[in-house]
Amino acid sequence: MPTVLDLMRRLHCSPDTPSARQFLCANFRAQGFVIASDGGAMIAIPEETAPTCDIALPSNKHSFIESQRTQFVATPNDRWHPFDVLLSHPKLQSLESCKLCKGKGWLVIRKCKKCKGQGELKRGKRFHPCSKCEETGTVYCPTSCTDDAHACDICQGDGQKPKKVYHGRYCNIPLPGIDYCHGIDGKYVRLFAQLPNARWSAPQRLSETDCGAILVRFDSGWGAIMPLRG
Ligand SMILES: [Zn+2]
Ligand SMILES: [Zn+2]
Repeated sequence: MPTVLDLMRRLHCSPDTPSARQFLCANFRAQGFVIASDGGAMIAIPEETAPTCDIALPSNKHSFIESQRTQFVATPNDRWHPFDVLLSHPKLQSLESCKLCKGKGWLVIRKCKKCKGQGELKRGKRFHPCSKCEETGTVYCPTSCTDDAHACDICQGDGQKPKKVYHGRYCNIPLPGIDYCHGIDGKYVRLFAQLPNARWSAPQRLSETDCGAILVRFDSGWGAIMPLRG
C-alpha cells in the first residue's frame, strides 16, 4: 500500500514546469499545511505531521487554499461519499499499460540523443527541426520511481490507464446525481481512492454548467480535485 506521502509525490509536476509554477514540483507549505499539487488536484496534510518542508507557497496564491479549507470545514459529516461509486464506473474497469511511461509510471528528463540536445539537425547546409524531441532538445524517458523521476502525467504514477480517454488525455468520470458538474479525471479518482478512508463531497454549484472543486477528506488530511470543463 502506498503511503500518503507516496501519493503526494505522484502529484508533483515535472522539473521543466514553467518557473511561475515551479513550487508545484515539490511539496510546499501554506495555511498550516504541507501540500502537493499538480494544478489539477491537491493533497494537504497538517504541517506538524509532515516532513520538514522549506518551500512556502507565494502569498498571492493563498486565497484558493484558504477558500477550499473554509468550505471543507463547513461541509457536514453526512455529505461525504465513498470513492467506490466513482471507482466502479465502467471506464475504470478496463485498463491498459500507459504508453507515455511504458507502464513504469515515472519519467525522467534526458537530453535528446538524436539532436544532442540542440532541437535541430543539420542536413547538408540546412537545419531541420528534430522530430524526436519536437525541437525541445529533451525527451521523457520511462523509469522506475527514482529520486530524479517525476510521475507520468497520463497515469499519475500508476503505469496503468483507462482504455477510454477523452482527446487522448482525460478520462471523464461523472459524479453521480450532480448534473452541473462535467466530472473529474479518472486518474485523480484512482489516485485519491488510495488515501486512507478517502471520501469526496459534491462541489459548489457556480452556474448551470460550472462548479467549484470537489473536496476530499481522508484519515490524516484533506484535498481537492478540480472539475473537468465541458
Ligand atoms: Zn531532438
Ligand atoms: Zn504513464
